Amino acid sequence: MSNEQSIDISSRKVVAMRDVQEAVAAGATRIVIGGTSVVTPSAKDFLQQRNVTLVTKGIGANAPAAAQPAPSIVSSSSAQGRPAPNPRLFNTPEAEAIKKEICAVGKKLWMRQFVDGNGGNISYRIGPNEVICTPTLVSKYDLTPEDLSMVDLEGNQIAGTKPRTSEIFLHLEIYKAVPEARSCVHCHPPHATAYAITGKVPPNLVIPEFEVFIGKVAISPYKTPGTAEFAQTVIPYVRDHNTVLLANHGIICWADSVTHAEWYAEVLETYCWTLMLASQLGAPISRISDQQGEDLLAIKKKLGLPDSRFDTSRMKECQLADLEMPGSIALDPTPCDGCTGRSAEMDAEMDIDALVKSVTDAVMGALGSK
Ligand SMILES: [Zn+2]
Repeated sequence: MSNEQSIDISSRKVVAMRDVQEAVAAGATRIVIGGTSVVTPSAKDFLQQRNVTLVTKGIGANAPAAAQPAPSIVSSSSAQGRPAPNPRLFNTPEAEAIKKEICAVGKKLWMRQFVDGNGGNISYRIGPNEVICTPTLVSKYDLTPEDLSMVDLEGNQIAGTKPRTSEIFLHLEIYKAVPEARSCVHCHPPHATAYAITGKVPPNLVIPEFEVFIGKVAISPYKTPGTAEFAQTVIPYVRDHNTVLLANHGIICWADSVTHAEWYAEVLETYCWTLMLASQLGAPISRISDQQGEDLLAIKKKLGLPDSRFDTSRMKECQLADLEMPGSIALDPTPCDGCTGRSAEMDAEMDIDALVKSVTDAVMGALGSK
C-alpha cells in the first residue's frame, strides 16, 4: 500500500497495549519492534484486530501479530458490507472540530446536571465505519479532545489512548438502525429520568417546542447497562423517535450533530420539569388543539425530524390514548410510543444477534485463555 506508515518502537523491551494504541492513534499501519522485544497478548490482539503489521527490526514481517486477518467472527463489519475502519479519520481537521464540539457539549451536560460522576456519553459518526466517542471513567466536565477515542461499528477501538465508553454499543445500535443519525448523547437528566423510573411518558400537545423537536418520546425496557441486550432495547424505537427514555436509567437522543443531540436532551428535560411544576399548581394543564398540533407536525416534517404521528393511521391512536386522561402528566406508553415498530422479524433478528454474540464471546474467551 502506498500510504503505509511505519512507526519504530524498537527501543521498547516490552511492547504493551498503551504503546501500540499510541502508535495506531498516530496513524501507524506497521510497527517496528526490536529483535528481543516482548509483545503483550492484549497488544497483539489490538494490532490483529486492526490489521496492523508487526515488523522485527532488520528481519521484516513478523509472525506474532503478523498481517494475519482478525478472526472472521470479530470482523463481521466487512461481512455486513461496511468498509474496513480507517483509523486516520481520527486526526483529520473535521475530527478535531468534532472532538472540540463533544467536549463543549460534555461541559453543557455537566453544568445542567444531566450527568453525575463519570455518567453519560457522547458519540459522533464521522465515517461509515468510524465513530468518535467519549472514554469511560471521565467526568463530562473534564473532557479534553485528547481523551476521546474512535471505534468501528462493532465497538472495536481503532484510535485514541483512553478506553472507549462501555455504553458505546447503545450508540452503535442507533447508527446501524438510523443511517441519518450522526451523533448520540446519553445522559441522566433528573426530571426525564424520573419518568424513566416510573415507566411512564409525558403527554403531548402541551408545549410547541417539544412537539416539533421531540414529539412522542418512547420508553425502552430496562436491561443491565453496558450489555449487548441493553444496547438492543432501543432498536424498535429509534427510527420513529429521536429521543428514548431508558427505563430505570436515563435517556438517549440522536441527531444530525452533537450540538443538536444535546438540544433534544435539554428540550425533553425542561418539558418534563415544566409538567411537574405545572402539576403542582392545582389548575388543569391546557392543551394545544389537535388542529394546532397538526400545524406543528407540518413544521416538523419540513425540518426532516422523525415522528410516529406522520403515519396518520397511527396518529389517531396516539392522540386518543392521550386524551383519555386529561390533566395527567404521566401516561402509559401507547402503541405509537414505539411498540408497533417492533416486528416478529426484528425479534428473530435480535435472537440471532444474541446467539452470534454468545458464540463470539465463547470463541474470544477460548482464544484469550490460551
Ligand atoms: Zn447511563
